[in-house]
Amino acid sequence: MKIKRNDVVVAISGSQKGAGRTGKVLKVDLEKNTALVEGFKLIKRHMKRSQENPQGKVVERESPIQLSNLMLYCSQCKRGVKSVRRLEGDQIRRKCKRCGNVLDA
Ligand SMILES: [Zn+2]
Repeated sequence: MKIKRNDVVVAISGSQKGAGRTGKVLKVDLEKNTALVEGFKLIKRHMKRSQENPQGKVVERESPIQLSNLMLYCSQCKRGVKSVRRLEGDQIRRKCKRCGNVLDA
């Protein structure tokens, strides 16, 4: 598994306007091979009127994006990168293949 919750990822392709945008992974759905990423592919949902929101309300929600359209983002390289796994002490860390920056939060 390459992408996990709380990873910072970048959208690399696909039809969405957000290609090149970065965001934090909120949730990964392994069965569907999709992830919810903060601020990605926002869709507007209309909330029903309620006591709290007598006017009704429009909220923006993230919609799932295919994992294959995401890459881990390296803050050093400022781009999506491939990661390599390195054992450090007793922890496996993912590092940027280009610069060695640790990608784990
Ligand atoms: Zn890097």
